[in-house]
Amino acid sequence: MTVSILESGEVAEYVRQRPRSQEEHKRAGRILSSGIANDVRAARPFPIAIARGSGARKWDVDGNEYIDFHLGSAALLLGHAHPDVVAAVREQLERGTHYAQAHPMENEWGEWIQRLMPSIERLRFTSSGTEANMLALRLARAYTGEPRVLRFEGHYHGWLPVGVLGQRPPFAPLASGGIPQNETSNYVAIPANDPELVARTLDADPQIGSVILEPSGGSWSTIPLRPGFLLALREVTAARGVVLIFDEVITGFRWSSGGAQGKFGVNPDLTTMAKIAAGGMAGGVVGGRADIMAMMEPSGDPKADRGRRVQQGGTFNGNPLSAAAAVATLRIASTGEPQRHADALAAQLRAGLNEVIKRLGLSAVAYGESSTFHVYFGERPAGTPVGETLWTEDASALRGMSPELVDGLRRAVQNRGLDLMSGIGGVLSMAHTSDDVERSIVAFEAALKALREEEPKLLRN
Ligand code: PMP
Repeated sequence: MTVSILESGEVAEYVRQRPRSQEEHKRAGRILSSGIANDVRAARPFPIAIARGSGARKWDVDGNEYIDFHLGSAALLLGHAHPDVVAAVREQLERGTHYAQAHPMENEWGEWIQRLMPSIERLRFTSSGTEANMLALRLARAYTGEPRVLRFEGHYHGWLPVGVLGQRPPFAPLASGGIPQNETSNYVAIPANDPELVARTLDADPQIGSVILEPSGGSWSTIPLRPGFLLALREVTAARGVVLIFDEVITGFRWSSGGAQGKFGVNPDLTTMAKIAAGGMAGGVVGGRADIMAMMEPSGDPKADRGRRVQQGGTFNGNPLSAAAAVATLRIASTGEPQRHADALAAQLRAGLNEVIKRLGLSAVAYGESSTFHVYFGERPAGTPVGETLWTEDASALRGMSPELVDGLRRAVQNRGLDLMSGIGGVLSMAHTSDDVERSIVAFEAALKALREEEPKLLRN
């Protein structure tokens, strides 16, 4: 008889280490729907409650220390509580937390964005990445007059309909309740990496006026893009007057000081950002071609503008605390140094994990781009070398690993002082060190061995 992972030793150890997190979760169950503030924060038997973070570390309410690969859902390129960011926010706090009016700091923030990403001629701020995508789609639709949007399977764009539909396997629409059927007909999800398929899809449906994607590949490079796909997509969309939107919520300014577009040399028509671009605070950015952004400008004739001009609200858009954090962050991110440092450490981590995978003879591979890492466990075709290259680009497989395996391994590494972002993967920062990486590789090996012992069926050779 197999013992369920929930009754196994790792779960018991998880519970033993975290009485106060368990208490907090009980309390949250009386307050928050399902006891969490965001669906991806769910964990079994309960999530870790965090008390504080500093650099590459964070501590839970029970005093357990973690090397953090979650980093505020990849918002913290500089690590937790970077002194320059803390000082900038503290200084702003003294001058008031919120004006909901124009202020010099939002101009400074916007100037940094324009300087780092030259495709952004004009921009607007929002309060989140989801809102940034909402505004980008509204702009694209107003500009082209076409209602439908092409997106790619496994790419994430926030929790608005275009983000939810086609995000997780199975990719057929309606993963969430509360989205009317007629809304879903405005989104078309296809696999990435096939420029011919994109061209055929656009030609067959002239009502598709925009294409949105994560230029990293879906879900922060969990589903990699083939080299050349971005450039081909740029050509296919430009030739048809279709607006190309890069969702750089993760990649700006992680992939480089110019984002993914700077790294790959391909400019979209519109870009959306949040996270690092908002200094690790709540906030978002939409920017791009001046003629598209001009859809927001009044013509001087209110009657003519009605139903034509793109409107936007948002009490906290460009708020001074996020602006202060963003300016402090972008000043450092503009040097390219944090990205080089984090990228090199992520490469070291991926290589070390692949050594572990080889040593244990597992059917798995560590991969990823920029400062990320992902570990894929899946059926390996005969002859594929262990722990060297990713052997599939199938989005359903890459986004659809067994939840028992993902949960089990996440808990096992948490029990050994690491916290991951989502799936089996995470991001690195300027604050991580080579020693953190070496310790993490050791912790991963111990976690994999423990899991294999407890649940041999989950880890195939
Ligand atoms: N796009 C991408 C690529 C993201 O990763 C996310 C958030 N993880 C979003 C959009 C949504 O951003 P937010 O959570 O700020 O709404």
